[in-house]
Order: sequence, then C-alpha cells, then structure tokens
Amino acid sequence: MIPPGDQPPELDQIDLARPWMGSEEQDAAARVIASGWVAQGPEVARFEQAVARVTDAAHAVAVSSATAGLRLALLAAGVHRGHEVVVPSLSFIATANSVVDAGAVPRFADVDPVTQNVTATTIAAALTPRTRAVTVVHQGGIPAELAPIHQLCDPLGIAVIEDAACALGSSLGHHPIGHDSPLAVFSFHARKIITTGEGGMVLTSDPARFDRLRSLRDHGVDADAYQRHTARNPAPAHYREPAFNYRMTDIQGAIGVVQVGRLGAILRRRRELAAHYQERLRALPGVVTTADPSYGRTNFQTFWVDLPDDFPVDRDTLMRRLGEQGIATRPGFMAAHLEPAYLDDPRFPAADRLPVTERLTHTTLCLPLHHGLGIAELDRVVDAIIQIASPGQPDRPDPG
Ligand SMILES: *Cc1c(COP(=O)(O)O)cnc(C)c1O
Repeated sequence: MIPPGDQPPELDQIDLARPWMGSEEQDAAARVIASGWVAQGPEVARFEQAVARVTDAAHAVAVSSATAGLRLALLAAGVHRGHEVVVPSLSFIATANSVVDAGAVPRFADVDPVTQNVTATTIAAALTPRTRAVTVVHQGGIPAELAPIHQLCDPLGIAVIEDAACALGSSLGHHPIGHDSPLAVFSFHARKIITTGEGGMVLTSDPARFDRLRSLRDHGVDADAYQRHTARNPAPAHYREPAFNYRMTDIQGAIGVVQVGRLGAILRRRRELAAHYQERLRALPGVVTTADPSYGRTNFQTFWVDLPDDFPVDRDTLMRRLGEQGIATRPGFMAAHLEPAYLDDPRFPAADRLPVTERLTHTTLCLPLHHGLGIAELDRVVDAIIQIASPGQPDRPDPG
C-alpha cells in the first residue's frame, strides 16, 4: 500500500552494518554443494591458509564460531576448573562465557578510556594466585597494546589469549593481529569484518598447540576425515581425549576464501568512511571518536562515538531520536559484569568496581559503517546528531 500523500516522504533507512558479499560467494557455495563433499574438507583448508597468509601467522584452525575457538584456546592454554582467567567485562559476553564453559572463573579487569582495551595496569589489578590466563580483547578492531601485557604475564606463566573476534586486518606496529601470536581467535559472524555467516579461526605460533587444536575441534581424533575419505586404505581412527565438534563446513570455507580476497578493499573503504566521520564529528566538542592508537591501526570494524558528560542529550535519547530518523545505531560495548548472567551470582567473585567500563557502556554509541554507505549518508548521520544536540532545536524540521 502507498501511504497517504500528506505524509512527509520517508528517508531511506541507514543500516548499522551489512555483509559485503556478491555472486562470487554464491558461486563458491554452489561449487561445493555440486562437489558432493560439504563437511570440513579442502575448502576449509584453503580458507585456513588464506587467513594465515594475510595475518602472517604460522598455523590456523577453522572452527564453528569464535566462541568455540575461545573455548579451545583456553584448553590449549591449560585452563581448567579452579583457575581464574582475567577478561574485560566491557566485551561481548562470549569472552566471559567461554571461561565459565572451561570450568574456570572470570575475573573482570577495567579498560583504558580511549582504546576501550585492557592494559597491563588494569590486568595487574585483577591478578590472583589462581590466575592461569588473560583474554585480551581487541575492542571493535582497536588493537590492544600487547607488549607490556606479555611483559607482565609471561614471567608469571600466565597465558595471553587474544580475543581478536573483531580484529582481522588490524595491526600492531608493523604486524597484522594474529602474527606470531601464541593464541588468537577471529570471528566470521555476519557482523564481523569478513563473514562466513557463522565461523571462527584460532591462530597459533606453536606447532604442538596447532596439532592439539585440530584434534580438539574434531572429537579428539588423530586423523583428518577428508584425508581418510580420499585414501585407498585409511588407517583406523583413534581418539586422544574427550573433545568437541567445532568444525566448519566446506560451504563456509569456500565463502571464506572469497571473503579474504575482499579484505583489502573492505579495509580501505572502511578507513575512508571513518576518516569522513572523524573530520565531520570535530564539530561536536568533547565527542571522542574511534581512531588508531599510537602503536597500531584499527580495521574500523566498529566506529563508535563517546559522548562527554555535558553532551546535551544522553546516549539512549540520541539513539532513539536517530532511530526515528531511520538511522540505525547501537549502544557501545556491553559490560558483562552488569548482566544477570554475572551480577549477584555467588559463583563469581563480587565484581570490583570498574569505573571506566561502567561509564563507557552508558556513553558510547556505534554509528552506521559499511561499504554500502556513501559520504551523503554519513553526512545525514552527522547532521542528525548535530541537530539533536543543538539546544532548543526540534527533532525534525517542521513540515509546515
Ligand atoms: C563477536 C564476538 C565474539 C563471538 O563471536 P562468535 O563467532 O559469534 O562466537 C566474541 N568476542 C568478541 C569480542 C566478539 O565481538
């Protein structure tokens, strides 16, 4: 039905995010389906090699999600019941949940107010004699400064696991995230920088861990199913330890190979769009925007603004009013320790105060950023924010 003519014309909806996919991904998926082998096989192996190549990593193990990958990384790091793992509360809740799934207890660390990442200082405040590992999140793609964290943790025998779910294509110094990492985990969920719908990958510099991770994702088996399928006289399989089915399908693997090929173009486009946001948002005093840290580069997987205390409207009001104008935004990162899953649960130590986390989770807003947007749409977003923030201005221009 066409709406009555006396209504103001509706502006197009501006989405927060959208996967960058085309006929190449369709063809890749169709080719796998036609091949007769759709479970984990040669396409997953190609995807692993492609990700290892762009991250300059020694070994890569594809898994069904980053959450599954974090679970395997914790096992590979020797985390089990009775241990504690330091994690940021300010992260998607999977970071903390994977620790609970491993039988260990998450200890929440606060974050730096600008990068929104844990630092050696905030981690040090959360260490106890039971700490076995630290999960460092590269928040929204902003690389965490790893060198001081390794300086703190390595001598104590505390494993450093990177939750790099959002950080494929980000870099630290001159190296991509994942390069030379003991354990780093990427996500290929539809909201991430490249996607296979669902999916994840664990990178490791350690050949023994590589071998164990491959086995752990596949019921603990000591052989490769596709190799057995193609061998004339396959040796009987044996199972080394109780484990999981965290495999990726070859349909996803084939899509992933195409997506890795797009990564350079995706990163360039996001950087151009982010630069325009940064430039235009300077008009709003006190608003902090996503930017590269001094020691690395973000992939701009997420572009957030952090509103100052004296901003004319609060974050939720801004989000609602932008939504009324067809502009989709989301609150910044969640704080796991404030969710029912962790708040008031006697199994977890009473949350220490996390003042920076508790502020940022209420003051940051993620703005639309994807390849389908142009400068005109970004200007519409910024103009709307400026207008909403102007005292005494109506939300919409009066149509009369
Ligand atoms: C998305 C995300 C995850 C979970 O990834 P899945 O692939 O959906 O399991 C974990 N940690 C962080 C920081 C994320 O952003």
